[in-house]
Amino acid sequence: MQAASEIECHDKTADLRSPIGLLSLGVRHDDSITLTAEGPDAATAIAAIADLILGGMDEPIETPRIPPSAVATRPAIDGALLGVTAAPGLAIGQARWFRHAEITVPEQGEGIAVEQERFTAALATLAARLADQARHARGAEQAIVAAHAALLDDPMLLEGTHARIASGQSAGHAWRATIRPLADGLRGSADQRLAERADDMLDLERRLLGVIAGVEDATIRFPADTILLADDLLPSDVLALDRSTVVGICVARGGPTSHVAILAATIGLPALVAVGPALSAVADGTSVILEATDALIRVDPDADTLGAARVRLVQADMRRADMLARAGDECRMADGTRIEAFANLGAIGDARLAVDNGAEGSGLLRTEFLFLERDSAPTVAEQTADYQAIADMLDGRPLIVRLLDIGGDKPAPYLPMAAEENPALGLRGIRVGLAYPQLLEDQVRAILSVRPVGQCRIMVPMIASLDELRAVRDVVDRIAGELGLLKRVAVGVMIETPAAAVTADLIAAEADFLSIGTNDLTQYALAMDRGNPAVAAGIDGLHPAVLRLIAQTCEGGARHDRWTGVCGGLASDLAAVPILIGLGVTELSSSPAIIPEVKALVGTLALDTCRAHAAKALACASAAEVRSLAREFAA
Ligand code: PEP
Ligand code: MG
Repeated sequence: MQAASEIECHDKTADLRSPIGLLSLGVRHDDSITLTAEGPDAATAIAAIADLILGGMDEPIETPRIPPSAVATRPAIDGALLGVTAAPGLAIGQARWFRHAEITVPEQGEGIAVEQERFTAALATLAARLADQARHARGAEQAIVAAHAALLDDPMLLEGTHARIASGQSAGHAWRATIRPLADGLRGSADQRLAERADDMLDLERRLLGVIAGVEDATIRFPADTILLADDLLPSDVLALDRSTVVGICVARGGPTSHVAILAATIGLPALVAVGPALSAVADGTSVILEATDALIRVDPDADTLGAARVRLVQADMRRADMLARAGDECRMADGTRIEAFANLGAIGDARLAVDNGAEGSGLLRTEFLFLERDSAPTVAEQTADYQAIADMLDGRPLIVRLLDIGGDKPAPYLPMAAEENPALGLRGIRVGLAYPQLLEDQVRAILSVRPVGQCRIMVPMIASLDELRAVRDVVDRIAGELGLLKRVAVGVMIETPAAAVTADLIAAEADFLSIGTNDLTQYALAMDRGNPAVAAGIDGLHPAVLRLIAQTCEGGARHDRWTGVCGGLASDLAAVPILIGLGVTELSSSPAIIPEVKALVGTLALDTCRAHAAKALACASAAEVRSLAREFAA
């Protein structure tokens, strides 16, 4: 973008190139904002930005699910402090406080040129460290490190620091004086998600000061069985924890959607946040039980409570160890029925995690996540390289590549689309590919260039009618011909609209497989926006209406001998798995971390029992009834 552009809200103005500037405006839903731009492409820039904002600017990271018990107001429990679950689990140990030592920096610089040089060198060192960390990181960790790297380039931070250095301050002081007020401003935001981004900025503050002051990042060491207490933790603190000694974390502040929470969930470390100031009364060395799943920490428990918790912990550890030991086994039901346990991927790091957790392939590669941070469409070569790397990581396992699913809740900055009144019902999914044929052709060419031929299958998102599949099939066949491929390329369809579900028999006659996107199918079946918190409590894929559409899809697929899978959130919901299998689903594409549990659960099930259970679920009157049926089934 060439145009200089600004956004104004609440009488404050920010440079649109600055993510931090944007965050610090504290724009909330329904606020009115003014966009201005100058320069040669001002009109296009404004249209693109308006579209991006109206599209929701979603983040690619899956945030942890907060159990209802964690958010509802709860009565006090004797000897326990209540918080909010950030990562579920149980841990027993001794409380140990973690406090950041303030890094001291002189206010006065040693000369403008020296300090500018010091700042530039420190930025380069930290950027290189972050890049190295991102290369070795997985899924969520990789995304968080990448977000930190992007913040390092923020013009507001760079310009602010350079201006202070020019006025005589030292590099470290100038950096802190620039970033700290911005972090404090965010921390005070009424919007919880914005407030939680303050941690990311404080993290960058500390890490850059560490580089300038020569204080190295080090692994944080504590005695065995430590439950780490902190007023607040930064994402890099979690990354630096020694997992062999720290068994849980408990934070007075923080929030369940913070990057600390996401990282803890990713590495499976039980974590409780938002416990409040009462946590400060817990002394170092106190015996504690962290019941993160139930959103509480028991302080100085009696011997009976401690004994009971130890038994539960041993049982849970044995279950998890057993599941992981068997994660590499082929996924089969107790009666021998084969169910494919696949993984949903959005990045190369996810693929590594998926393989480690026993994924038998990928049932959904969300390709739009690979190209989020760009302002131009990815070239064929760039796409091929990314798909090839993921295919290599899967080491021959099938990879179902979904064609770009942009529009709706997934904006792509490189494709300026006009603002829409109802984006979820507008130009999204395959409609975008058909409206911009070059985009579709480039992607198909890239997918078909991956070797070995046949490892990648193509999946078409948001189909509403057979014509759309036919149009894609034509493009795939033409490009396959141009590339000299002799074998037919598998092209499947995502069933995400009620229209596709009820005509699954027609679609399956020409599709190679069906995969149900329960996130969108639920949104469209229940007429509840999946991104609207006001209806979040009602948007449950176990609603009988959604289950009936799933049943209809499986029947349609079976009529033409096509397999039906699920790649939406229901495939990661252990309560839903027996019902889905009973309805006829034979492939489950889940979040990488939950695959060992999905496989272990499938191994305990029998097809007949699942069918009877699913029939009962179809006859329920509400999602709540289905959930209670699922609890009885699991008991
Ligand atoms: C879905 O809609 O269920 C799905 C898997 O696609 P996404 O969540 O990416 O829209
Ligand atoms: Mg979808």
